[in-house]
Amino acid sequence: PPAIAIRNLVKRYAPAGGKNGPGEGKLALNDVSFDVPQGGIFGLLGPNGAGKSTLINILAGLVNKTSGTAEIWGFDIDKDRRNAKASIGIVPQEIVFDPFFTPFEVLEIQGGLYGVPKAARRSLELLSEVHLADKADAYARTLSGGMKRRLLIAKAMVHSPPVLVLDEPTAGVDVELRQQLWKLVEELNSEGVTVVLTTHYLEEAEQLCDRIAIINHGRLIANKPTRELVEMA
Ligand code: ADP
Ligand code: ADP
Repeated sequence: PPAIAIRNLVKRYAPAGGKNGPGEGKLALNDVSFDVPQGGIFGLLGPNGAGKSTLINILAGLVNKTSGTAEIWGFDIDKDRRNAKASIGIVPQEIVFDPFFTPFEVLEIQGGLYGVPKAARRSLELLSEVHLADKADAYARTLSGGMKRRLLIAKAMVHSPPVLVLDEPTAGVDVELRQQLWKLVEELNSEGVTVVLTTHYLEEAEQLCDRIAIINHGRLIANKPTRELVEMA
């Protein structure tokens, strides 16, 4: 199956206050359909407010879709939530871990939450994959911004999902750190992980992604190999 298959996805947020009749909330996704092929780095590009986070939050199970379907690695996000969830790792924009745990502890706790048996956990290996092996036992609060972001990536990979989704991985990040995160994304992809990232930087999508979908006002307006898209522009 495709890594992700999205069909006729619609999200209409309920209107604030809920007093307006049905159908009057904000239409954040308007009949979106596309596949993310296995194995590549797929970019979901669009300006702020386009609907990128909404789409990711639906895949993550944090937001309920209004209609349409989504499958992750062939598993329907509603009908087979368990397998769908096991197939995806999500790196959110915000730093989400307890600053008074160490990176090793953060990964062990996450592994426990995902039901990864102790013997099957690879916390140290993961830390070395994200170049944090030497920080395994430091308080997470003492890590630099770049290190925190790399820890978030390791955290998303704890259950060894085939698909890794990063929501605006380099928003508000300086040039040097951006290059470092791009390199890490490429390393993970070369080890076989299908990567999906959202971004509003065309340059980021062009450099990293082999395929780019463009979303604007909740509608998919392009979905092409990067090379073709760049030739068009
Ligand atoms: P992006 O991630 O591309 O910036 P979002 O998915 O966050 O876009 O937002 C898409 C649209 O949906 C925007 O118009 C935004 O204001 C609206 N929106 C997002 N979250 C909510 C919410 N919880 N309630 C109502 N409207 C929302
Ligand atoms: P920050 O940039 O946030 O201050 P560091 O980036 O200091 O955090 O990273 C610590 C070390 O890890 C650095 O020496 C850096 O070169 C190395 N490093 C980070 N990312 C990678 C990577 N993708 N490949 C190889 N080495 C890396």
